[in-house]
Amino acid sequence: MADQRQALFRKIPSVDVLLAHPRIEESLVHQPRVLVIRAIHEILETLRATIQKNAVSEETLGTDTIVEDIIIRIEQLSMPSLRNVINATGVVVHTNLGRSLLAERVLEKFTPLAGGYSNLEYSLEQGRRGSRYTHVEYLLKELTGAEAGMVVNNNAAAVLIALETLAKGKEVVVSRGQLVEIGGAFRIPDVMRKSGATMVEVGTTNKTHLKDYEEAIGPDTALLLKVHTSNFQIVGFTEEVPLPDLVNLGRKHDIPVMEDLGSGCLLDFSNYGMIREPTVQESLEQGVGVVTFSGDKLLGGPQAGIILGQKDLVTAVRENQLNRALRIDKLTLLALEETLRMYRDPQRAIQDIPTLRMICASHEALSQNADRLNALIGDLDTENFSVEQIDGDSKVGGGALPLQKLKTRLLSLVPARLSAQKMEERLRYNTPPVICRVEKDRLMLDVRTIQESDFQTVAQAVRDLAQFNPETGRSIKEA
Ligand SMILES: *Cc1c(COP(=O)(O)O)cnc(C)c1O
Repeated sequence: MADQRQALFRKIPSVDVLLAHPRIEESLVHQPRVLVIRAIHEILETLRATIQKNAVSEETLGTDTIVEDIIIRIEQLSMPSLRNVINATGVVVHTNLGRSLLAERVLEKFTPLAGGYSNLEYSLEQGRRGSRYTHVEYLLKELTGAEAGMVVNNNAAAVLIALETLAKGKEVVVSRGQLVEIGGAFRIPDVMRKSGATMVEVGTTNKTHLKDYEEAIGPDTALLLKVHTSNFQIVGFTEEVPLPDLVNLGRKHDIPVMEDLGSGCLLDFSNYGMIREPTVQESLEQGVGVVTFSGDKLLGGPQAGIILGQKDLVTAVRENQLNRALRIDKLTLLALEETLRMYRDPQRAIQDIPTLRMICASHEALSQNADRLNALIGDLDTENFSVEQIDGDSKVGGGALPLQKLKTRLLSLVPARLSAQKMEERLRYNTPPVICRVEKDRLMLDVRTIQESDFQTVAQAVRDLAQFNPETGRSIKEA
């Protein structure tokens, strides 16, 4: 047994022999040498481990087979880690898939700005140092009526720095019904602790009254906090204190109110047949001291945390040393300014900001798209699955409008020889990956979030899936 193994080990070609193989030499023309050598080492390592486990046959030790594996490994290693995927899940603001897509108009501005110098922190009027926040503050004020505004890395950072600035070493009163956790470990009690503020919880999970806040106010109270329960809803016997009442209470005691709006939309979604979500403008009109929200949720822009409100409070936040660590970079600022500029014409915003366009897509338009995708897939001669078109629901996602169901049209792949799980996996391994959801034991492709420019690619991926042979694990590509 051991002798046999030794004989097999000796059959493994050397690194030098492999490097001289014509196909590997060809790879070396395009790929860095270190990467090719790493691929060779990895494949040989795997081979040795397989021999060690006596799980190898003579054929797999043929140089051609080994070279084939090395070429595949080189391809894998040379691929960037962060790449495009096709979102067929129907979750529009999908946090795992990068939340909002930036509008075409935003993308056009990227290359020149990123590749050149800019007036990022330079005042062209005065010929000296300026502030990076001027590039969005004017628009935020114009669109929302806020006295002042600034932007940081994300909304988690916005909440943290606002609390740190306004309430460090002091008390913040917040309702027990609003101690939310957002996906990815953002929890109000934890952020509060990190900011150095002491949380004073009032009320119960389902009900908090104005007098609960009133009784909790003491000499150390610095802030009344309202958190929008954006990703869940407590229904039934519930009560929350409306923002204007909280603001009145705060005024009586000279304590500002801060609201973490989460998604923070600038448009009233109820105008588009959807559940009402509080807007940033309303929050400010109702007299909030500071309001924070995300740039890449319902706003449809880049990852950012926007802080708006009274001038003295926002200025204090801006002057906080912590701001230097949480600051927004120039490309994000560019994307945010361009996205906000589109809101000057709400009708265009709905059409041109991908997040808004997808959320507001009509059932009729979605049905037409489902027909088009289905036609591109064409007739499939396969025993793997069958395709049906059905009605279903998409989701807004990003912890926004959790109860909102968006009527959509789905291409449903009904399992036969392939299970729904296997189909999901195969499409995920496609280049580019197609990310789908499995529902009722079927694979669902939701046209709401598939970009029209990707229809051909998705159709081809489904046709490849039809050709996939589960016995051999290979897809017989169409000619
Ligand atoms: C999403 C959300 C956050 C975190 O925002 P990020 O932009 O992801 O950092 C904070 N609070 C609420 C209520 C949210 O919905």
